[in-house]
This record gives sequence, C-alpha cells and structure tokens, in this order.
Amino acid sequence: MYTTRPPSLRREIVLWYSAVLLAALIVFAAIAYVILRESLERAEGESLHQTAAAAEQLLLPAWMPRSEVGELRMTLPGTRIETLRRRLRLATGEEVEIFVAGSGGIGRAALRNFLLISLLLIPLTATAAALGGRTIADRLLRPLERLVRATREIGIGRLSQRVEEPDRPAELRELARDFNSMLARLDSAVGALRRFTADASHELRTPLTVIRGTAQVALARPRTAEELRDTLEEVAEETERMLHLVEGLLTLARGEQAGPEAVRERVELLPLLEDACEMGQALAAGKPLAVQLVASATVAVRGSPTALRQAFLNLVSNAVKFTDQGNVTIVVRDEPDCVEVQVADTGRGIKPDELSHVFERFYRGDASRSSNGGFGLGLAIARLIVEQHGGTIDVQSEPGRGSTFRVRLPRAAA
Ligand code: ADP
Repeated sequence: MYTTRPPSLRREIVLWYSAVLLAALIVFAAIAYVILRESLERAEGESLHQTAAAAEQLLLPAWMPRSEVGELRMTLPGTRIETLRRRLRLATGEEVEIFVAGSGGIGRAALRNFLLISLLLIPLTATAAALGGRTIADRLLRPLERLVRATREIGIGRLSQRVEEPDRPAELRELARDFNSMLARLDSAVGALRRFTADASHELRTPLTVIRGTAQVALARPRTAEELRDTLEEVAEETERMLHLVEGLLTLARGEQAGPEAVRERVELLPLLEDACEMGQALAAGKPLAVQLVASATVAVRGSPTALRQAFLNLVSNAVKFTDQGNVTIVVRDEPDCVEVQVADTGRGIKPDELSHVFERFYRGDASRSSNGGFGLGLAIARLIVEQHGGTIDVQSEPGRGSTFRVRLPRAAA
C-alpha cells in the first residue's frame, strides 16, 4: 500500500511564511495605491484652484467687487489635460471667465510608477523572503533532524545510548532531555526485566534439574516399589517448590499489571494479622519461639484483603524462619496520619550491607541461601503490595539481635 508523505515541516513553514508575507504586501500596496490616487487627485484639483485664484488676482484688482457665478472642472476629451473654468460677475454687470489648465499626467505617471514598482518588488520580496525563510527553517530544523536520526538508530538493544541535547532552540532541548530521560527509564526497566527473566529461569532450572536427575537415577535400573515411592516424593517436593516460585512470579506480574487503583475494598486489619500470627505459631512449632499479636486499636485500610494478607504472611514467616529463639511480635498502631504494623523478631538480624537489598527480587541473604530458604521473592512481593496500597515498608535490623519490619498504610475513611 502506498502512502503519501505528508508535507515536511520546513515546506509548511516556508509556504505559510511566504503566503502571509505576499498577502500582506499586496494588501499594503493596494491600500497605498488607493490613498495615493486620492491624494494626487486632490492635489491636482487644489493646484488648479490656486492657479485660477492667482490669475484672478492678476486680472482684477483686489478692491473690485465681484461674485462667483460658477466653476467647472473637467478633463479635455482625448487628452490628459485637466481644466478649470471659473465665471465671475463684476459690479458693472460684466462677466469674466478664467480658464486654467494643468497637464494632469504627473499624478497618473506617479501612480503608474508606483504600480510598476509594486508589481516588480512584491514578487521579488516574497521570493527573497521564501529563500531566507528556507535558510532559517533549515537552521532551526537541523537539530530536530539530528534528533530524528538518533532516535531511529536507538533500538531495544541500544537503550544505553542518548541523543545529543542541542543548545537551542529551547523547545528542542527540552524534547531531547525528555527523550533521554525516557530512554533512561526504559533502559532500567528493560534491564530489570532481563535480570528478572534470567533470575527466574535460573531459579526454575534448579528444581527442574533435580527432577530430571532423580527420574534418570530411578530409571537407570529396576527399582522396588519403596524406592520408586521415595523418588516420587522427591519429585513432588521439587514440584511444590517450583509451584511456589511460579506463584510468586505470577503475583508480582499481576500486581504490576493491576496498578494501584485496582484495590478499593475496606479491609479490617486485625483478622488478617490474627491469621498471620496463627500461621507464625504453626511455623514456629518445635522452636523456643513465642509469636504474638499486640493490637491497641481496630484499624481498617482500603485495599485487597488477599494481597494484604499475603504481605503480612511473608513478613511473619520470614521472622519465624530467621529467628531460632525468643519472640516474634506483631504490633498494630493507629498513628495520626496512617496505620502502622510492625513485625519484630529477636532473630539473627540483617547485615548492614544487605539491608538495602532485601526488598529486591531474588535477593537472598547468606543465611537464607545456605539454609535452602525461599527464592528471595517474599519481601519484593510484600513491598509491591504495600506500595500498591499507597503505603511504605522499611526495615531496621541489628545483626544478632533481630529485625523490625515496619509497614505504614493510609487509613480507610470511617
Ligand atoms: P526469602 O525467600 O529468602 O525469605 P525474602 O524476599 O523474603 O526472601 O527475603 C530476602 C532476604 O532478606 C532473606 O534471604 C534474608 O536474608 C533477609 N530477611 C528477610 N526477613 C528477615 C528477617 N526477619 N530476619 C533476618 N533476615 C531477613
């Protein structure tokens, strides 16, 4: 299919600029012509009158009484000669006729010259303006062309490239800056996506390799029913881990798609936190660890109960996982500007250099990696959920003494 290219910006600018200038010049010349013609006509008439008055003074002494009978102004037929005939009656009854004539062609010649000059100069000026306009447009549009060329060269694989920011004009400078900052955002988003995909594939590969290895070993020679049962149990366990990982990935992907406005429902926090506390107690079974909930107020927020429940479960299960003995305490507070939930433990704590990374996807501390813990998605999911509810999450920790995760959420209006 053929598509016609729309007119270029340069052509538009030059065409409009020249057309407007041409129209302005024509209107100006036409008005000047009309005014000039009227002035010349008036001047010629006055000149005839003055000549007639001068002739009258010459012919008749000033003291002689007279009255004007009539005056006739006309152009002699077939010529350009302008005439003025004035009739006067003297006190004696005699009539005197003064007849003056002027060439009349001077005004017309001036008008003709004006017309000629206009007809010659207007197209010339318009053409010169068009050429000048083109040069100016060229100069102004050069940075834009460079920008267009640069944007064409930037593909998904070259997002680290930046376009040149011209010094002027200001609008293009701003456009180039905005474009560059958009590139930077895209670059980091694509980078994060790549890391995420690579990490996810890596994490999925481990259980898959274990499943394949287990199956291959089982198939290598005939097995008893007992041995096959063990193999299947191992396969089921790894599949469970994989499911857990895929669920985490799905939660993150869905959460990102949903956007913050997807959550609206009024959610009472206490029942959710009681659930999380009970789950924590179940997980802590067998450890000298007390999991308790301290609630000083009933509080409600707006959002999705399922998502919030998951966020608190992640925090509590981490606290239990990384605490060998002591306490895990969930504290709810109704603060003046928000609802605050703290999950504090007396566990192994987080090293200062790990603190800034714990909310990153797939980040696992040394302790978690060595103890076959989770996939490093729990806190990333918790943070995504909290942020989607308009809240914040942070952590304070002292290695060997424990950690406190603090979630602050906007309170639901009563
Ligand atoms: P994981 O699946 O490893 O638990 P998370 O995203 O939940 O992943 O946590 C990331 C890392 O943060 C963990 O590997 C651990 O090192 C650290 N962490 C999280 N919660 C705690 C806690 N309560 N105490 C000590 N370390 C923690």
